[in-house]
Amino acid sequence: SAPAPAKPGLLGRLMGRSAPATAMRRALDDEMLEQLEELLISADMGVDTALRVTANMAEGRYGRKLSVEEIKRLMMREIARIMEPVARPLPLYPKTPQVVLVVGVNGSGKTTTIGKLASQFRAAGKKVVIAAGDTFRAAAVEQLQVWGERAGVPVLTAPQGSDPASLAFDAMAKAQADGADLLLIDTAGRLQNRGDLMEELAKIVRVIRKKDETAPHNTLLVLDATTGQNALNQVKVFQDISDVSGLVMTKLDGTAKGGVLVALADKFGLPIHAIGIGEQIDDLQAFDPDEFAAALIG
Ligand code: GDP
Repeated sequence: SAPAPAKPGLLGRLMGRSAPATAMRRALDDEMLEQLEELLISADMGVDTALRVTANMAEGRYGRKLSVEEIKRLMMREIARIMEPVARPLPLYPKTPQVVLVVGVNGSGKTTTIGKLASQFRAAGKKVVIAAGDTFRAAAVEQLQVWGERAGVPVLTAPQGSDPASLAFDAMAKAQADGADLLLIDTAGRLQNRGDLMEELAKIVRVIRKKDETAPHNTLLVLDATTGQNALNQVKVFQDISDVSGLVMTKLDGTAKGGVLVALADKFGLPIHAIGIGEQIDDLQAFDPDEFAAALIG
């Protein structure tokens, strides 16, 4: 049987299927730019960023007749240009243990991402310790233990409902005593009571600083690509209640192509350390701007 036709990408939809795409040329005029803007907005890029991309595309080319290929390449280039400065793997510091606080709303993929990161660092020869800091969610703790086993990394837990800061302190002590390279700390993601969560995160930070005043070295915010524009809001909220230093976007293997990442890069400029592309332990990749732009535009 014939292979399923590829899903038409953004531009495929714009140009329609009526004529051979390669033969078609259209002027980069107001109508065209407006259609491109709508496409970008429908891809979760947000109005401001969509406007910036199309304005950059039009600069010096307004009114010119372009082929689909040219428009596509132009759009990809403008998107990749916004993304290049933020495509940065998690920096590793000589000072160990490097403490990575992982924050984000429940369901965003925190525990999964911690498991994947632990496995990657372990494979790179690093000694890793995980702290199951969401002590209120028994399921999160259990899941982290499973990930820890898979990755061959110890997971420190505390009785359900106990103080996450106290666990973080113990984990810090263990990581230091064991000579660990990395300590990954999971945290609660209950945004219902923002003040409480802020207090909880602040206390974790205070307590680990008693062991190392430079910690935490990174605060990773995990975002779910399927939440679309809502991710912008989550960055704002978590910037208010913690010291977000970088992002991981999960679930980019689904239908969501993560257009909101362009808006995030444009608005916040936070580094994107990795992307999640599945539920398995190896499904975490470095963020590649060109690949991302190509997948988004298709
Ligand atoms: P947490 O509540 O933030 O700790 O989120 P979890 O790590 O438990 O993830 C929530 C759900 O999303 C689980 O079913 C995960 O398997 C799933 N998940 C996490 N990351 C990815 C990803 O990159 N792709 C897909 N398809 N699913 C993911």
